[in-house]
Amino acid sequence: MRAELEPNAGIAGAGAVLRLIRHGTASTRGDLVSTTGLARSTISQRVDALLSRRLLLAESDAASTGGRPAQVLSFNRAAGHVLAADLGATHGRLAITDLDGTILAQEAHDIAIADGPEVVMAWLEAAFDRLGAAVRDAGPLLGIGIGLPGPVEYATGVPIAPPIMPGWDGHPVAQRLRDRFGAPALVDNDANLMALGERTRAWPDTEDLMFVKVGTGIGAGLISHGRPLRGAQGSAGDIGHIHVRDHDHVLCRCGNRGCLEAVAGGGALAAALSEEGLEVRDVHDVVRSFREGRPEVTRAIRTAGRQLGEVLAASVNAFNPAVIVIGGDLAEADEPLLAGVREVVYQRAVPLGTRSLRIVPSTLGDEAGVTGAAIMAIEHALEPQAVDRMLAAAAGAR
Ligand SMILES: [Zn+2]
Repeated sequence: MRAELEPNAGIAGAGAVLRLIRHGTASTRGDLVSTTGLARSTISQRVDALLSRRLLLAESDAASTGGRPAQVLSFNRAAGHVLAADLGATHGRLAITDLDGTILAQEAHDIAIADGPEVVMAWLEAAFDRLGAAVRDAGPLLGIGIGLPGPVEYATGVPIAPPIMPGWDGHPVAQRLRDRFGAPALVDNDANLMALGERTRAWPDTEDLMFVKVGTGIGAGLISHGRPLRGAQGSAGDIGHIHVRDHDHVLCRCGNRGCLEAVAGGGALAAALSEEGLEVRDVHDVVRSFREGRPEVTRAIRTAGRQLGEVLAASVNAFNPAVIVIGGDLAEADEPLLAGVREVVYQRAVPLGTRSLRIVPSTLGDEAGVTGAAIMAIEHALEPQAVDRMLAAAAGAR
C-alpha cells in the first residue's frame, strides 16, 4: 500500500503539475517552481513520476545558451487512449482517440436505438473491441465517453425516461461499460457533448456557448464559464419541449402539446411536407429536397428557423451566450434555417444579449458528438486527483 505514503493530491500533486503543462501555463521545471511556489526538489519528483508514466515528454531546449540546457516539458498525447461513441436515434458513430481527442480510427453505422439496451450495448461493446484492435500502440485505455439521444443523469451515467429510447430508462450504461472494459465510463446527453466538442475545437476562447442540435428532434447543450451546464438533474438545455404559440393542436412524443420539436423539428417538417404531397419520410429527405431546390421546402425550413428563433431569443435573454452554434441533420440546410433563426433572435432578444452574439453553423458537423464524448472522457481521466491515483497505482505495482 505505498499509495498511502504518497498523499500527492491537491494543488501540489503531480496531477496538478500535469495540468499546468497541458494548459500551457508552464513548460519547464523553472516555470513550475515559480507558478506553484513548490521547492525545485518537489517539482522534480512530480515531473519524474510523470515522465516515468510517459504522461510527459522532455526535450532539451536547443535555443538556450550557456550552462545546462533547460528541458522543455510537453504533454504526451500518445500516453493512452479513450473510446467514444455518439449514439443517435438511427445512427451511431464510434471513435478511438488519443489524449488530445484526435480521432485515430472511427466507424459509423445505422442503428435503431429503439431496439433497446441489450441489442445496442452488445453491438457497441463489439464495435469498441474492433476499434481497439485496429489501432496499435495507443497505450492504455484511460476512459470511455458515450452520448445518448435523451435525458441522462450525468452523475450515475443512467438515461432517465428517454422519450425515443424504449427500454433504456434506468439502464446502467456507464456501470456496464466500466465492468466490461475496466476503465472509467461517463455518459451524457448528445447535445451537451456536441456543445463540448464544438467549444473545445472551434471556440476555445469562448466561455459561454450554446449548441443547438436540430435533427429529427431538437435539443441544446450549454457551456457556461467554459464548463458544461447540466443543471440540477441533467436536463438543462432541453429546449425541444418548450411550448411555442398557436400549435396546441400538435401532439409531441413527450405527451405534451405544441412543443418546439413537434412543430419545427426535422421529423415534424418531414410529416408536414409529406402531407403536402412531397416524397419525404425523414429529416434526410427534407435536406435532399431542399438541395434539389424545392421552394416550398426552403420556405418550410425558414419557418422552422423562425420558430426555433422564438425559443432561442428567450434562451439568449436567460443565458446570454456569446455564440450559438446550430448543428444536427437539418442544419445541413443551414442557409434558410440560420436565416430564420437570426431574423427572430436579433429582433426579439434584449440588445445587450445580441450586441456581440454570433449565430453560426457547426464546424465539426457529424463528428461534434463523438469528439465531445472523447473530450469528456479525457478531461475526467486527466483530472489532477485521477492522475495522482494513476501514478500511485503504478508505484504500488512496482
Ligand atoms: Zn414535447
